Amino acid sequence: MPCRASGLTLSSPVAYTANVNGPETSLPMTWRVVFFDLDDTLYPPSCGVWPAIGERIQAFLMDRLGVTYDEATKIRRGYFEQYGTTLNGLWHNHSVDPSDYLEFVHDLPLEEMLHPDPELKSMLQELPQKRIVFTNASREHAVRVLACLGISSEIDAIVDLFALEMANKPETVAYERALELAGESDPGLCVLADDMPRNLVPAKVMGMTTVLVSPRQQDGVADLQIERITDLTRALPGLVAHEN
Ligand SMILES: [Mg+2]
Repeated sequence: MPCRASGLTLSSPVAYTANVNGPETSLPMTWRVVFFDLDDTLYPPSCGVWPAIGERIQAFLMDRLGVTYDEATKIRRGYFEQYGTTLNGLWHNHSVDPSDYLEFVHDLPLEEMLHPDPELKSMLQELPQKRIVFTNASREHAVRVLACLGISSEIDAIVDLFALEMANKPETVAYERALELAGESDPGLCVLADDMPRNLVPAKVMGMTTVLVSPRQQDGVADLQIERITDLTRALPGLVAHEN
């Protein structure tokens, strides 16, 4: 299904909203790192990538564990709650090879689902901060997604599941390792943009500025919510205001 990554217009009255938990006036104006989640954050959920990955996960579980579709759904939900990802549950309980799993679930025609997003590219180019993708997926998947969106050269680094030594969001250690890999010791000078409220919780506790990227209003700890990632600099103008 074709996807317009920049299809929403700025005139939307809820382009971004401040959360009562963190008025923007209390946020730092000298951020040094912006961490971006990958899937459903750098492109909108309407692109359909995540449901497609979900179907591949179902197929993997049914094939490798010999379970029905409904049983696979139950296992996924349980592992997601207990381990953060289905993969970590499979790794801990069934010694599944992470590379084998990730290669299977990401085997999708991404080039038909995601398209270059010039608005996102120019927004990223504006940011003077380090621009880092921080994902529970693999580097290979991230590289493909960034290429499809036309933003490969705008991302300074990819922190994937393997760089995190198999830790994943929302485990606190994943955020600690991401900071270390980014060469940043002060979480207070970092922003995390992610589409999942629960992934923002540890970041907020550590002191990062948290941005929920979601087209539907959700409760949570985020300092800000934006509908789409291209609203980031309008929601946090301080990201670019101190460039010189
Ligand atoms: Mg995501």
